Amino acid sequence: MISEIENCGNFEERVRKLVEAGYETVAREAIACTRCPLHKSAIKRVIGKGSCNPKVFFIGEAPGKTENETGIPFYGRAGKKLDKMVEYMGLSEEDWMVTNTVKCHPPENRKPRVNEIGCCKPFLIAQITLLDPKIIILLGNTAEKSYCPEKKLEWGIPEEYEGRTILKLYHPAALIYTASKIETQRAFIDKNRNLWT
Ligand code: URA
Repeated sequence: MISEIENCGNFEERVRKLVEAGYETVAREAIACTRCPLHKSAIKRVIGKGSCNPKVFFIGEAPGKTENETGIPFYGRAGKKLDKMVEYMGLSEEDWMVTNTVKCHPPENRKPRVNEIGCCKPFLIAQITLLDPKIIILLGNTAEKSYCPEKKLEWGIPEEYEGRTILKLYHPAALIYTASKIETQRAFIDKNRNLWT
C-alpha cells in the first residue's frame, strides 16, 4: 500500500476522513484537488457514473478528451464499448458504477503515472468503501496497478481481495483496437456470470 507520496498526504488518514465525511465530500474534494500535476490538464473532474448502490464497480484508466469536456466517465468511443459490455453482462442501471484510477485527464491522453495514481487513490478507495460493491472489475492493467498493485491477476480469473471479488477484464478501448479480443472478453464474462447474477 502506498502510504506517503510527495504532496499526497497520508493515505490511510485521507481515506478515513473522506469515508467519514461521505460521498458528496469525496466528490467535492476530488473536484478541488491540486495535489498532483494532472489538475493542470483537467477541464472537468470526472468522478463517477452509475448507481449509488452498485453490485459491480468498474475501474477504468483515466478520463479521455471527451470525458474531460463532459465530466462523465466513459462518454466517448470506449464508453460505447463499455455499454455493450454491460449489456452483455446483463446488468441493469441500478447494478453498476464506473470510475477511473485518476479523476483528471492526463495531457495527450498519456497513461497516468504512479505518483498521480497514488495521489488519487484515496478518492477511489473512499468511493469503494462508501458504495460497498461486492465485485470490482478492473478494466485493464492500469486499474490493477492502482487498486491491487501487489497482485498479478490473470485475465478473466476472479480472486478474493480485501473482502470483495476482483476480476480483471480487457479495457473497452482494447476491444476497439483488437477486435479479436471481443470474443475472449465474452468468454471471460460467460465464465463469471455467477458473480453478479
Ligand atoms: N478510458 C478510460 O479508461 N476512462 C474513461 O473514462 C474513458 C476512456
